[in-house]
Amino acid sequence: MAMTDLIIIGGGPIGIACGLEAKKKGISYRILEKGPIVNSLFNYPVNMQFFSSSERLEIDGIPFISNEAKPKRNEALEYYRRIVTSNELNIQLFERVSEVQKDGDIFAISTPKATYHARNVIIATGFYDLPNTLDVPGEDLPKVSHYYKDPHFYASQKLAVVGASNSAVDAALECWRKGAEVTMIVRGPEIGRRVKYWVRPDILNRIEEGSIRAYFNSSIQEISPEQLVLDTPEGTVMLPNDFVLALTGYQPNFDFLKAAGIELSEDEKKRPQYNPETMQTNVPGLYLAGVICGGMETHKWFIENSREHAQIILRDILSKKGNPKAA
Ligand code: FAD
Repeated sequence: MAMTDLIIIGGGPIGIACGLEAKKKGISYRILEKGPIVNSLFNYPVNMQFFSSSERLEIDGIPFISNEAKPKRNEALEYYRRIVTSNELNIQLFERVSEVQKDGDIFAISTPKATYHARNVIIATGFYDLPNTLDVPGEDLPKVSHYYKDPHFYASQKLAVVGASNSAVDAALECWRKGAEVTMIVRGPEIGRRVKYWVRPDILNRIEEGSIRAYFNSSIQEISPEQLVLDTPEGTVMLPNDFVLALTGYQPNFDFLKAAGIELSEDEKKRPQYNPETMQTNVPGLYLAGVICGGMETHKWFIENSREHAQIILRDILSKKGNPKAA
């Protein structure tokens, strides 16, 4: 049975940081990623600009040079891809982990291609796979998407954007600027308070001048090919519609965590149990890294405040081996 010290599930920025740290510390490791390198970032909107400045997205102190202070998606793809290739990280792409099981001290990690065995596992799978759904009739129509990619697609179309957070606001503004007729449907009374401070005035002004229509305290009741049925404070509204972008957030794969034996808090936050000093979960040898640590509080962890998880975890793994490099 081939055995590695460490399997890292997820090749996002934090999984890559863990791989780099393992390599530096002389730990045998393998990263398993279900898509391309930094799959979540690859699937972000094509024109997306990070809210963090580039030095805050750096891993292992490797300089991230960007044209503007806050890098764009394409620059981040270049940065993380070059880290993987120039450091020859041991990463297997397009290989989704379906199951993590522990037998004695050894983990068995299953993918459609193989079963791997390891003494330690890091789950760094992020939260971008499972969208929070609207749960209304018509949500499965092809005109409805939970992911926004490119504004060009929506030019001259009647577009409804559901949500009021950064993703929804960026999509609404971009698509309006490319000629879409944009209506925002917002469950709460206002545009989100966490929207980037340099973008919020822009959307407020577009709504106030009537360029972008917004229904607050409102929700979609039903989606049909030609229209939406809205529940608004003024009563039911029939809104002609071509496309819906339901940008209402995402959540970690809790079933995957539970199946691996990780306990979640019983409140609505579903916080996975781990020791912040080691990042080890209630399952010895099984660690969490990156944004997955927040449970439903997906705004809590970013690249900039979770990149340190790599050092914390590798220090703990090395200390268990009684290795002096742990210090
Ligand atoms: P992810 O990047 O999500 O990586 C998880 C990886 O795991 C993915 O590649 C996924 O394909 C893989 N995976 C999932 N399940 C499996 C499986 N079963 N088997 C194998 N692989 C699997 N953060 C910042 O710090 N600054 C910013 O400016 C910023 N801007 C953002 C803008 C947007 C639009 C969004 C959505 C997020 C932004 N974030 C930002 C958050 C940031 O993207 C995340 O913090 C970052 O991606 C987290 O890295 P991660 O490695 O923890 O997770």
